[in-house]
Amino acid sequence: SVKSEVCMFTEQMRETLYRQITLKNGLSSALKNNQLYMVYQPVVDCDTGQVGFCEALLRWELDGKLIPPSEFIPVAEQYGLIYSIGAWVMQQSCQQAASWSFDKDVSVSVNVSVAQLMHGDLVNIVTRALHDSGLPAENLHIEITESIFAADINYVLQQMKSLQKLNIKVSVDDFGTGFSSLALLQSLSADVVKIDRSFISTIDKGGKAIIQATQYMANELGYSVVAEGVETKKQADDLKAMGVANLQGFYFGKPMKLEKLDAWHQGFKQDNRKL
Ligand code: C2E
Ligand code: MG
Ligand code: MG
Ligand code: MG
Repeated sequence: SVKSEVCMFTEQMRETLYRQITLKNGLSSALKNNQLYMVYQPVVDCDTGQVGFCEALLRWELDGKLIPPSEFIPVAEQYGLIYSIGAWVMQQSCQQAASWSFDKDVSVSVNVSVAQLMHGDLVNIVTRALHDSGLPAENLHIEITESIFAADINYVLQQMKSLQKLNIKVSVDDFGTGFSSLALLQSLSADVVKIDRSFISTIDKGGKAIIQATQYMANELGYSVVAEGVETKKQADDLKAMGVANLQGFYFGKPMKLEKLDAWHQGFKQDNRKL
């Protein structure tokens, strides 16, 4: 009956809300108690065969269990925690990148939420993180998901220009999903486009056309291209043959703590069969 459906819905809502509040409280105390940490995933430059940059990804364990960012980032956004968390992520990533020993020239690429770009004091936060860490601005990238295009595009463009004026690079993340169009790449004038993992995993089933179109457009517009979620040698070979310049994925390396990057890098340099 209608009545029982309404009751089930309410019960579900209550559970969802309870989970959200648990996450919100846990997250805010994790931030205060310094329990969040970053992991880094290498992105390989096909031309040089070297690591071009590393993407910084946030990690949080609640009661010994990893909560995925796909679950806690939306909660942080909803409850306004994303600004303080985002500032911490920027500081921590810049500091660790400034001190990583395996290669000083390797840049760090930091994810930024739409909310941070729209309402946060992002330019100041970035400026301060660069200043405090001593990381050269050209060694910092910022990744913004294309859901940004649902926001006020003029404001987005203005913010991106201010960031680029600092000499940092701006990447469009998860390209090809959501509201993006190839024409948007033209109006954005970002520096890097990251093709979403879903097209790499379907490279044999239609994903290839999207990758090729993006690659062509990116070349015309002077973007550098990254393929996300490369899991097999076959995918890496196909992408390389298509002219994709940068590859990222479990095939090369999973996201890892700073302490593990050095050892990974030693192994990677010796294993030239990867590319
Ligand atoms: P993203 O920025 O697109 O990051 C790439 C995601 O793909 C990461 O998931 C990474 O672990 C995963 N990945 C990388 N290579 C492979 C692969 O070969 N196969 C598969 N199956 N997955 C791969 P993660 O760390 O769970 O992050 C998910 C999303 O959460 C990120 O997507 C990003 O949008 C967001 N996120 C993560 N850290 C932060 C952060 O510090 N700030 C903000 N605002 N968002 C973040
Ligand atoms: Mg990203
Ligand atoms: Mg992505
Ligand atoms: Mg993503």
